Amino acid sequence: MNKRSPHHAYLVRVHDIIDLSPNLRRLVMHSAELANYPHQFNGAHIKIFLARSGQITPQLPQFSNHGFNWVEPDNKPIVRTYTIRDYDAKACTISIDFVKHGDNGPASAFAEQAQQGDVLGISSPGGPNPMLKTAARYLFVGDITALPAIESLLATIQPDASGDVVLLLPQAEDLPVTLSLPAGMRLHTFYGDLSLIPALVKFITNLTPLACDDFAWVAGEATLVKPLRELLRTQWQLPPQRHYAVPYWRQGENEESYHEARHKFIEK
Ligand SMILES: Cc1cc2nc3c(=O)[nH]c(=O)nc-3n(C[C@H](O)[C@H](O)[C@H](O)COP(=O)(O)OP(=O)(O)OC[C@H]3O[C@@H](n4cnc5c(N)ncnc54)[C@H](O)[C@@H]3O)c2cc1C
Repeated sequence: MNKRSPHHAYLVRVHDIIDLSPNLRRLVMHSAELANYPHQFNGAHIKIFLARSGQITPQLPQFSNHGFNWVEPDNKPIVRTYTIRDYDAKACTISIDFVKHGDNGPASAFAEQAQQGDVLGISSPGGPNPMLKTAARYLFVGDITALPAIESLLATIQPDASGDVVLLLPQAEDLPVTLSLPAGMRLHTFYGDLSLIPALVKFITNLTPLACDDFAWVAGEATLVKPLRELLRTQWQLPPQRHYAVPYWRQGENEESYHEARHKFIEK
């Protein structure tokens, strides 16, 4: 019998490297242990554990009710948060789509320099389950870091769903050719950098407000998520269970420095 805790970490190897677009690279990770990976819902996120410089294999955490423990605290790996883009139980693989934003971040650098056989750790999945609530109308908003989750969620949405998908992508080539929307959903794209956020927020402010049985999903850079959560909660009066609004990153801050502020924002 498998007595494994629901939280577990796995050592995986880079199996395949696929350049999806100028700014997005998919790493397909393999381990025989992934045959029993507890994948339950699309859009879930995971922690990735990256080896520190000079190491080949990262230390994996042990889990308790309070989160992670490290047997060797001085030898902690670099921890980052990513979305499971695809899980294949038969092939024992998990795919993650990494934004290539340069070598200023360890995770981006890892993806940009990845070679087949490179080792990293991944955790079991987390996030609200189900991520997507059944709704009369949907609004999805995200930048390129949220694209993997939006694509995964759209893959499971009911075919008669209606609503809007609003994407802020660095360039037109970052829009996946495979992105498929139900006939009742419209796609709106903004191509460029974060300076387009005010125009994007204004665009969404001018949409017909969502009603309390609708559902909004918003993620991306913090200055994109903050005004939109305010709009959803205050002006549109959407109850908390009818929206997901999570800042995935903040410009100028790394994951370590932004982690606590993100949690405070989410818990507010
Ligand atoms: C629930 C969740 C799911 C996520 N899913 C994904 C995913 O599937 N794919 C994905 O690519 N990201 C995803 N992210 C975002 C990712 O965790 C952050 O972008 C993270 O900071 C990247 O780590 P890093 O080591 O590359 O950079 P860090 O060391 O954290 O940051 C270094 C510098 O790079 C900047 N930076 C960080 N991210 C970006 C970016 N995307 N573009 C430009 N500059 C950046 C920082 O502001 C900082 O100045 C997710 C985040 C969360 C919370």
